[in-house]
Amino acid sequence: MCGLCCWSHLLKGTTTPVLVFTDHANLRYYREPRKIGPRVAGYLLEREQYNIILEYKPGATNRADALSRRPDYEGPNPINDDVTVWPDHYFCNNHTSIRVFDMDSISDNLDSRIKLAQYKEQPLLKKWAPTHNLSLLDGTHWYHGTALVVVADNTLRRGVISLFHDHVTAGHTRITKTLQLITPYYWWPNLKTFVTEYIKGCATCQMTKVNTHPTHPPMFPITPADNARPFETVAMDFITKLPQSGGFDTILTIMDTDCSKVSIFIPCHKTIDSEGVALLYLNHVIPHYGIPRKIISDRDVHFVSKFSTELCHILNIHQNISMAYHPQTDGASERTNQTLEQYLRVFCRTQQNNWHAWLPLAQYTKNSWPSATTKKTPYDLLIRYTPQVHQPTRKTTIPSLEQRLLSIEEARKAAQEAQRKAQESWIKEKPRYVPFAVGSKVWLEGTNL
Ligand SMILES: [Zn+2]
Repeated sequence: MCGLCCWSHLLKGTTTPVLVFTDHANLRYYREPRKIGPRVAGYLLEREQYNIILEYKPGATNRADALSRRPDYEGPNPINDDVTVWPDHYFCNNHTSIRVFDMDSISDNLDSRIKLAQYKEQPLLKKWAPTHNLSLLDGTHWYHGTALVVVADNTLRRGVISLFHDHVTAGHTRITKTLQLITPYYWWPNLKTFVTEYIKGCATCQMTKVNTHPTHPPMFPITPADNARPFETVAMDFITKLPQSGGFDTILTIMDTDCSKVSIFIPCHKTIDSEGVALLYLNHVIPHYGIPRKIISDRDVHFVSKFSTELCHILNIHQNISMAYHPQTDGASERTNQTLEQYLRVFCRTQQNNWHAWLPLAQYTKNSWPSATTKKTPYDLLIRYTPQVHQPTRKTTIPSLEQRLLSIEEARKAAQEAQRKAQESWIKEKPRYVPFAVGSKVWLEGTNL
């Protein structure tokens, strides 16, 4: 337009059309109806006064370019080629790009390093295959069942153990549990020895070790009810005398004893009464699992009785919740609390006033640890698989809905049976409880005196 204006005294209002060569390709954009801005709209009146026909000629074939590109014409304004008018920093990153967080990338780093190491050790792996029953699962990588084979590389092997032992949601489990957790995902010869050595050398474990056999407390196993549903029988307990954290100093633990062993950890205050506990139960357990039929507690009978009355009162129901008062430990809930305390000690040793923030993760960790008796995790018995956090992706890990429905009943029955047998053996094989006779001399354990 500027060129037309410059020659307007010759070009305006001609009867013969004037042919205009242009290398401005963008003008072709306006051949279609477009919403135009005020600048282009301003041209329109001026343009109406010319009788012109445009012909696009690319820059390379346009002879007129030589004139307009004379170096002495450049002046203080260089050619505005490749000018980014709105550079990146003008744009809001959060809105212009969608960032996808790829969960697989967490584990895939380790997995891909292990797979890469396998490539280099093909002859060895082929030699291992018949003796250790290895197979090429996806056609290229060696597996032992569902577990990826890790070749002799200490960094990789330590990486695997670290993932299942040191990780924030792994919680420094003991040797047997760590092994149980690793075996579905990774395998190598003498895995057990390697794991044992690793954990024996784990400084965190050494610092926070719990003595689980201080004085062999008497065992009064609670036999699970047949075909129990999740949270039909619950054991409630309190972990007290904790340092203040977010206004809390006590943890209420609620465990489904007969079906899945799933535990729920709720921060609370030591002054909480039965009404307060009923409210916590209402908020944290009822929406998921409904009302319990039986409550096991080592708190005084009145407390549990008031709690169940209060719960029924809030829900406006008339139901008998039976109570089992266990002044002595039943072993299971005691171990749950030890697990929780150990876990919290590991992760909160530097910030004792922040344990309440770790409780949800502690709950996940506890529920994803396989039981020594049943070999299943509480999650397995509740929903038939363990939700994944730090574990690597394996296609075979999550069963289909159909498989879940078929196997969940079997798994629960098998677990109950295993639990019963284990309890029988505790009593038969290790009669640790010898009643005291009047007049016997005893040593008192001073911790709680
Ligand atoms: Zn450890």
